[in-house]
Amino acid sequence: MMNRRDWLKAAGAAGVGAAMPAALHGAESPSMGGNAVVKTELKRLLLRHTWTTTMSSSAYRDTIHLQYERDGITGFGEGAPIVRFKEYPEQAKQAIDAIAGQIGARDPKKFDKFLADVRRSLGDGQHAAMAAVDIAVCDWLGKKLGIPLYQYFGLDPADAPVTTFSIGIDTPEITRQKTREAEDFPVLKVKVGLQSDEETIEAVRSVTKKPLRVDANEGWTDKEEAVRKINWLETQGVELIEQPMPAHMFEEIKYVRSKVHMPVIADEACTEASMIPRLKEAYDGINVKLDKSGGMMEAYRWIKFARAMNMKVMLGCMISSSCSVTAAAHLSPLVDYPDLDGNLLIANDPYEGVKVRKGKLILPSGPGLGLKILAS
Ligand code: MG
Repeated sequence: MMNRRDWLKAAGAAGVGAAMPAALHGAESPSMGGNAVVKTELKRLLLRHTWTTTMSSSAYRDTIHLQYERDGITGFGEGAPIVRFKEYPEQAKQAIDAIAGQIGARDPKKFDKFLADVRRSLGDGQHAAMAAVDIAVCDWLGKKLGIPLYQYFGLDPADAPVTTFSIGIDTPEITRQKTREAEDFPVLKVKVGLQSDEETIEAVRSVTKKPLRVDANEGWTDKEEAVRKINWLETQGVELIEQPMPAHMFEEIKYVRSKVHMPVIADEACTEASMIPRLKEAYDGINVKLDKSGGMMEAYRWIKFARAMNMKVMLGCMISSSCSVTAAAHLSPLVDYPDLDGNLLIANDPYEGVKVRKGKLILPSGPGLGLKILAS
């Protein structure tokens, strides 16, 4: 198997690496290769509230946006690199720009081989870049066929379930305010994993009685503490717990699961489809994200694989625009627990796509992703 460096050497020799210098300058780098033009751009998404989890705290997120133009049709894609997996926006853009010639030269109708080759050329650790390419090619295909992507996957948009709205870690006062702002959502997801967990849940409960799902983002490192916290959460109307302990603490998580009643979902611990059988020993389900799987096609495979293992499926997203979130939403009729609110947390969404009505995901019916491009 060729790694990215080898491919670049080979590509340079063949002359298709000419896109590279452009990638090193300028925010936008169109690269003509074969029949498609591939353009990448980093967009800064401004957060409505400073977003805090056990991982990070920030006022904005940069995501990579990709346009795939061929036959007068443009497909749009987006990837939100996950810092936890050492992926970063600038590197994701460089990785795509370096193979833009290869991407442009391939036949999108033979997408299975095409996308597998792109994945190989991007190399390990470029899942968000892969997602941007995959989503843009899926959008292009749907537009070319004249059908929305949910239809391409054979799904009924009426089956799109209710999504959660996430409440990040904050002071009790801000937590109460955020909970009030989320009144349209029948189920909330609350971020915990710090010393202030009880305070956070009590702040939410002082405003609402609706069901809660909780994400500890690997925050608890003592298995007895994790059991104690989850048993307490069980008295607070919490329906599931996501990644209670660090991903590598497999035996401890198995222990925790044996002592609690609510489903335990793997998020940070699930990064490859091949892990799913082993994860079943410690978890009840997995959280699928396009930025972990590398796009819609592989996310679909994860979902089907987890289903074949009789596991629960959650469908999550990173903080990203309506491009990536709408792509995930097209697969939502297949899952138990959608958690697709990343676009609702930003103030300058460049697209309009999936909508949420009383928490229910409303899929756009236009071809491909069905996005409307707003002025950026
Ligand atoms: Mg999570």
